[in-house]
Amino acid sequence: MLTRADCLAADARDPLAAFKQQFTIPEGVLYLDGNSLGVPPKTAAARCSKVVSQEWGVGLIRSWNTAGWFELPGRLGNKLGQLLGANDNEVVVTDTTSLNLFKALAAAIRIQQQAPQRRVIVSERDNFPTDLYMIQGMIDLLQQGYELRLTDDTLSLEQALDDDVAVLLLSHVNYRTGAMYDMAATTALAHRHGALTIWDLAHAAGAVPLDLNAAEADFAVGCTYKYLNGGPGSPAFIWVAARHQDRFWQPLSGWWGHNRPFDMDPSYQPAQGIRRFLCGTQPITSLAMVECGLDVALQADMAAVRAKSLALTDLFIQLVEQRCGQHPLTLVTPREHARRGSHVSFRHPHGFAVMQALIARGVIGDYREPEVLRFGITPLYLSHADIWDAVEVLRDILDSGSWDRPAFHQRASVT
Ligand SMILES: *Cc1c(COP(=O)(O)O)cnc(C)c1O
Repeated sequence: MLTRADCLAADARDPLAAFKQQFTIPEGVLYLDGNSLGVPPKTAAARCSKVVSQEWGVGLIRSWNTAGWFELPGRLGNKLGQLLGANDNEVVVTDTTSLNLFKALAAAIRIQQQAPQRRVIVSERDNFPTDLYMIQGMIDLLQQGYELRLTDDTLSLEQALDDDVAVLLLSHVNYRTGAMYDMAATTALAHRHGALTIWDLAHAAGAVPLDLNAAEADFAVGCTYKYLNGGPGSPAFIWVAARHQDRFWQPLSGWWGHNRPFDMDPSYQPAQGIRRFLCGTQPITSLAMVECGLDVALQADMAAVRAKSLALTDLFIQLVEQRCGQHPLTLVTPREHARRGSHVSFRHPHGFAVMQALIARGVIGDYREPEVLRFGITPLYLSHADIWDAVEVLRDILDSGSWDRPAFHQRASVT
């Protein structure tokens, strides 16, 4: 049987332990929701204040040039690219993941129009809904007989992929279960059928090692407000393999993607390279803060982050099974390391109320339909002892039945 002392001993050996000091985490909170909204890096408040009081307040309009605002999407894209296995000039930080999905999808479909019989877009029924909604919106816009084909218990990926498929759009790590695809193998499978791949890295970027170029992926998008700690609603990113960047331009062809935006030319001419995936003026305050999170993430060795993520997710699973074993909890996250991202999810018939009870005790995870308790494991600011303490609170809530109060059954608009 594991003890809290074992956890403290593991913390004493943890090469990433010092990273926690680079973040602000409120007293009394065990934060297991960094996969949904990361915590603030300590540098974020000062950075934000500098943007407002100096760059904006003093520099005013001059700051587009003098503070590097105009170059920010590409400069941050190059930094982030180091975590994605991307080269320079392959990533921009901009817009939202949903909007970037639209751009990637449009570009991939345009490339595939060289093979007009390809009218199927494959995704997973269990994918994050915005991915499916954006595909549905695109199909409706095109009005050309495109169809969405969803893999599920009755249709495997191998079965879904045939020579009619234009695009395969998947999340690398599933938002609900934490299940992870083998990106290189899955991309190779799609390519064997002539399909292009779009990877949604929302639950992967900053959480698991990524090598988009080695996997020969085609397009990728993702968030910066989850494992990258960019702040609420911070701009997302889009990666496009260099070989595709100049093949077509994406239809959100705003002036920031123009080759010479300040020529004020009446006709659109896409910029060369990844800049053509920009649309309009960027939210500079929010974008500037993305750098604070990236600068912390880039100091950490990704292999060490992955090793600790697996150790902590293993520990969480083991402790829940040891200490809460008599309660109706079912693990929905794969046990196999190669198939696991960096969060752990359990089903419980009263999952929603149990999560509200946990949050009331300072253990912040989240709830996803149906019945899923989701716990994000962020190796840069969680310790083994934190995992122990969180499971102890869960055990107490389940043993005492304290989750079954009317207040804990009340739903707010964001779960
Ligand atoms: C969080 C998440 C998103 C969020 O998209 P937004 O446009 O930023 O709201 C998209 N896809 C996946 C898989 C996610 O987990």
